[in-house]
Amino acid sequence: MNAPIHPIEQLHVALPDLDWVTDGSRIARLSQDFSWFSPVLKRQLAGKSADAVVRPRNEDEIKRLVSLCAKLRIPITIRGSGTGNYGQSVPLQGGVVLDMSGYNQFLWARDGAARAQAGIRLFELETKTRAACNMELRCMPSTYRSATLGGLFGGGFGGIGSINYGPLAARGNVLGIKAITVAEEPEIVELRGPEALLMHHLWGTNGLVLEIELALAPAYDWQEHFVVFSTLDDALDFGQAVASAPGIVKREVGLLAHPVPAYLKQHAAELPPGCHAMILAIAPSSEPAVRELAAQWRGEVTYSKSAEEIARTHRTLLEYTWNHTTLAAFKVDKNITYLQSAFVPGQHLEQVRRMDKLLSPEVQMHAEFIRNLDGVVTCTALQIVQFTTEERLQEIMQTYRDNGVRINDPHVFIVEDGKAGGALSQAIQEVKQRFDPLNLLNPGKVRAWS
Ligand SMILES: Cc1cc2nc3c(=O)[nH]c(=O)nc-3n(C[C@H](O)[C@H](O)[C@H](O)COP(=O)(O)OP(=O)(O)OC[C@H]3O[C@@H](n4cnc5c(N)ncnc54)[C@H](O)[C@@H]3O)c2cc1C
Repeated sequence: MNAPIHPIEQLHVALPDLDWVTDGSRIARLSQDFSWFSPVLKRQLAGKSADAVVRPRNEDEIKRLVSLCAKLRIPITIRGSGTGNYGQSVPLQGGVVLDMSGYNQFLWARDGAARAQAGIRLFELETKTRAACNMELRCMPSTYRSATLGGLFGGGFGGIGSINYGPLAARGNVLGIKAITVAEEPEIVELRGPEALLMHHLWGTNGLVLEIELALAPAYDWQEHFVVFSTLDDALDFGQAVASAPGIVKREVGLLAHPVPAYLKQHAAELPPGCHAMILAIAPSSEPAVRELAAQWRGEVTYSKSAEEIARTHRTLLEYTWNHTTLAAFKVDKNITYLQSAFVPGQHLEQVRRMDKLLSPEVQMHAEFIRNLDGVVTCTALQIVQFTTEERLQEIMQTYRDNGVRINDPHVFIVEDGKAGGALSQAIQEVKQRFDPLNLLNPGKVRAWS
């Protein structure tokens, strides 16, 4: 008698025309993301791998795959480019990694909005929107060159541009999505506005998103600058002044407190020892106003590049912001990790100062100015931590909480324990029921559905 054929083999046999990855080492690689930034996740997720990886190219292929996975009860973990930091696209229970990077068509841009398939890279999307209507993304991660639109929606927060438009979740940024139900007879559904956000930052656990429609921002020829300061107080006050000046057109206002600038080895000439540095992306017309503020706060502009120079050299300071700062630090010191925290608007400058005084140099301050969901200027931070033990890491996070600062724990792989900060809403649960009733999407990541 023949042994029963394994469900994964049944997939291969039934869908031979799909683009399957069969090489074991590539399957292992495509089952990983950037969760190695956390020593805790690195330990917890070691060796987790899919049984198969598939890269669909069109809706029909996705439909046939999803239908058969539902029939055979095979888990599906969706992957964009795998730049997520919390093991979001690492499969805990094997099954299929559904690599969306081949499903990547730009659809349209007009009237201040754009729509594309989820696997498009953000850089490609922005190139298209600039060409179509001279508009750009409202916010994007510092991984914009490689990260996908679906990955930003499913696993990201925001980043460059959030100083104007807040995080992606701010009302009006996401206009709509098209998603497919994971069922034997899959259905395609459009969700608009707030309903679409019920799948946002849920790590692909309650819906497989096919298309995303975003509101856009006017495009500028962004200049980039380093402004350096001798004291943290001056750097912070300058950052706040730039961030909140309504007439200064900006895309990025980031603070690297001493000793963080020392990790940017390629820029050692512009970042004198002991300095606190601000990274700015501003419109050319705002340069005089920024220089005036720099002088007022005793800062020195040590580096300035025009958009044309940046495009020609492919060297952008944006790739030292957000979690790219952590990446730059890793290149110098393997023994680090990071935190993610959100300061209280209005108290944020004082909290940044206090926490820096309390914990530096063990915890090194890297803060980003943003507007929060209500449009109020505040700071969020991705501090660099000199790692010793997991216990000490927990103590540090508790010290932050004890000082009234919110920690969005980046060392957990359960949705409720991260930025979600607790139980998921009834509305999110209902979306799960509707779009993934068999609980096949990224199983093990949501406590409520485990
Ligand atoms: C150096 C570095 C810097 C970073 N900077 C930032 C930053 O500035 N801001 C920020 O927000 N993040 C940042 N990140 C995290 C990450 O790069 C972004 O969130 C990025 O948008 C993820 O895109 P991706 O295509 O790599 O997604 P992946 O990592 O592949 O996926 C992320 C999550 O989304 C889900 N997903 C992917 N596609 C879909 C889909 N079509 N439908 C449903 N779910 C889907 C996946 O299952 C997974 O849970 C950074 C990470 C690194 C390593």
